Amino acid sequence: MPETQLKTDVALGVAIPSRNARGRIVRLTNVVDAVLSSHRYPAPIEQLLAEALVLTALFGSLLKEAEGQVTIQAQTESGIVDLLVCDYRDGEVRGYIRHDPAWLADAGPNPSLFALFGKGYLAVTFDHPGMNERYQGIVPLEGESLAAAAQSFFAQSEQVPSLVRLAAEKRDGRWVAGGLLFQHLAEGEEGRERIHTRLDHPDWPHIAILAGSVKPEELTDSELPLDDLLWRLFHEEDEVRTLSAVELRRGCRCDPDYVRSVIARFPPEEREAMVGDDGFIRVDCEFCSSSFALSPSEFSAG
Ligand SMILES: [Zn+2]
Repeated sequence: MPETQLKTDVALGVAIPSRNARGRIVRLTNVVDAVLSSHRYPAPIEQLLAEALVLTALFGSLLKEAEGQVTIQAQTESGIVDLLVCDYRDGEVRGYIRHDPAWLADAGPNPSLFALFGKGYLAVTFDHPGMNERYQGIVPLEGESLAAAAQSFFAQSEQVPSLVRLAAEKRDGRWVAGGLLFQHLAEGEEGRERIHTRLDHPDWPHIAILAGSVKPEELTDSELPLDDLLWRLFHEEDEVRTLSAVELRRGCRCDPDYVRSVIARFPPEEREAMVGDDGFIRVDCEFCSSSFALSPSEFSAG
């Protein structure tokens, strides 16, 4: 393995050729802090968003083209969390959660996934603008964790045997979040027809046991280099190849011109109704909490 010391705010790709497996491993510190600093969420919601950001980065690191985008959206019909949205593009991640604070307070300090989402759904959308392609898979939010729901996404939607682990922990006032994703690839070829995937291939349970032995505290130890963690998990394998690493950042793509163009599309009387007491139309970005103040006079021409 190369002498890298990748510890945090990075996604590292891994291949285990003799087992036809590939993996991604992600750890986030500054990215999580930057995203959470735009909001004032209670601890269980911060924890959920930290894990969701890691999951988003894991999905994003599977993209092959720089312009590709992944959006994960968890929606509920009857849960404390009404909506969770995270997306990834070119190393940038962002996200937010809409929830009911009073209901959350009643649920105690460690609400289960079911308490948070009730009857919920996880939708994962891959956009490939370069290929003019969009793919969306939707699975029920079941199981005990977001990681379990992500695993069922791969199993149901993509039919690729997969293992997902996510963890997030607040230490000394700062969040550290980490996760890994391992998948079995048919005949060791990425992108090969899925029909050749054998769900019962003996290599896969072996890799799933090794990858699944990772401890939450290893995923969230920001002093443990990712290479060292991979060595701990897979040192008995013939070859563990680390692939290129992707640096991760918090990025928001909200843009005043875009906000203005959206507001301009409303009929004048509806726009009039949006004007606040201060005489401005205010639009807040739910991802980063940026507030845009637009003067109604900007729209009066024409
Ligand atoms: Zn924004």
